[in-house]
Amino acid sequence: MSRLVVYSNRLPLGSSPSGGLVVALGKAMDRRGGVWIGAKLDEDETTGQTLKSYEGASFDRYALHLPAEEYNNYYLGYANSVLWPLFHGRADLLDVADGQLAAYTSVNRKMAEASVDLLEDDDVIWIHDYHFIPLAAELRKLGVTNPIGFFLHTPFPSSSNLHALSHKEMLLDWLAAYDLVGLQTQRDVSAMLEVCRTIFGGQVLSDGRIRSQGQDIWAASFPIGIDVEKFRQTAESQEVTSPQIDPRQKLLIGVDRLDYSKGLPHKFRGFQRFLEDQADDSDRLTLLQIASPTREDVEAYQEIRHELEQITGEVNGEFAELGYIPIQYIHRAVPRDYLAGLYRQAAIGLVTPLIDGMNLVAKEYVAAQDPEDPGVLILSESAGAAEQLKCGALIINPYDPTSIAEAIRTAVSISLEERIERHQAMWTEILKRNVYWWTETFLDRLNRNAASRLSRDRSLADLETALRR
Ligand code: UDP
Repeated sequence: MSRLVVYSNRLPLGSSPSGGLVVALGKAMDRRGGVWIGAKLDEDETTGQTLKSYEGASFDRYALHLPAEEYNNYYLGYANSVLWPLFHGRADLLDVADGQLAAYTSVNRKMAEASVDLLEDDDVIWIHDYHFIPLAAELRKLGVTNPIGFFLHTPFPSSSNLHALSHKEMLLDWLAAYDLVGLQTQRDVSAMLEVCRTIFGGQVLSDGRIRSQGQDIWAASFPIGIDVEKFRQTAESQEVTSPQIDPRQKLLIGVDRLDYSKGLPHKFRGFQRFLEDQADDSDRLTLLQIASPTREDVEAYQEIRHELEQITGEVNGEFAELGYIPIQYIHRAVPRDYLAGLYRQAAIGLVTPLIDGMNLVAKEYVAAQDPEDPGVLILSESAGAAEQLKCGALIINPYDPTSIAEAIRTAVSISLEERIERHQAMWTEILKRNVYWWTETFLDRLNRNAASRLSRDRSLADLETALRR
């Protein structure tokens, strides 16, 4: 088996809880081994722009250390104040400043230059997420001919959003350098097709490639998964140690990074609507919302935090009683194993992003349930996970508080039989496409695409030689 070399901005280092990307890739790397290369702010400004190795994992880890100004322009700037809002349909939150794009492209170039000597001839290279879209093009410039795949963990932007991006034509050159572009859902594949057609004048070839301006992009959807069995075991074993919930209160659980794409204010308003409309309080519901801090140096993230604190105060002020607090809002990261136990105790999983690439929390909630007495998942139609979990979840419109309130009402009244049926359907789906399925199907397709590129290149070279004779 070829060695796998993975690139992502974030590396699994230290004990800080990880986002979906690091969790999923960590599973694949633990099982398969290989090399994982990331980027890091060089806090002491001594080792700037070098690749530093980190011991202590079952795979090799390296981080490109970057000086503060460059890292901030690349990471907080172009990646998280331009690409992230655009890819999440929030062109209104774009915060464009001088130097961001230059830092983004130069970090990608430096990453290629710093890591190229680590690469071996039969390595398979897998680059992740919007921080490193240009990386394959930079590696190709340095003569790398290995299979290179890309996976976008966020949604793919619509053409109306992409119009707000300056230099958007570069995106085509960047994506065409890959042998395979993996997207989370069919919705994203359609968005990419639409962008290629309307912005780059492209068309789909008979073998599925998208050809635009003489360049080809291979794109397909590979919904990211979790280690379902392992997560259920963790949830079972955590049950005893996580805090017991007062049995008179039904628990709704929400777990999200405090990001504007997660729709937290809308979720709270939906719960507020439910409380307002509740005829009697025989079902006393508590919303436990874990909102882990993220990118707090970006202004849009400070605003969402204030908004949420204000709504929490308003709802609790109106509905709290002695011994009952409707919203328990925790602005802190919680270890994933501990979350597993909490999910299992919660009667309802409330996952309501305005838009989300996948949303692993939805899958974790399903995996953690007791199959004989499972909770109900309420899921936004705009989460990538809805494509797979609509078979059992109650699907809502995250912008509409009434839709959320109605789903909560339905969830508390669903019979045990129906809960089991819904859970079983979702369980079967997440088990079939677990995290190992995700890695294997992506890499298998990547290898096949790269083999056909190499054979096309060889035929072309043979033809040129024959013509020269
Ligand atoms: N997570 C965690 N602790 C927290 C909040 C989240 O371990 O306090 C984990 C969560 O269990 C999930 C991941 O972080 O595995 C979040 O992934 P998701 O796809 O839902 O969202 P993302 O943060 O990647 O946008």
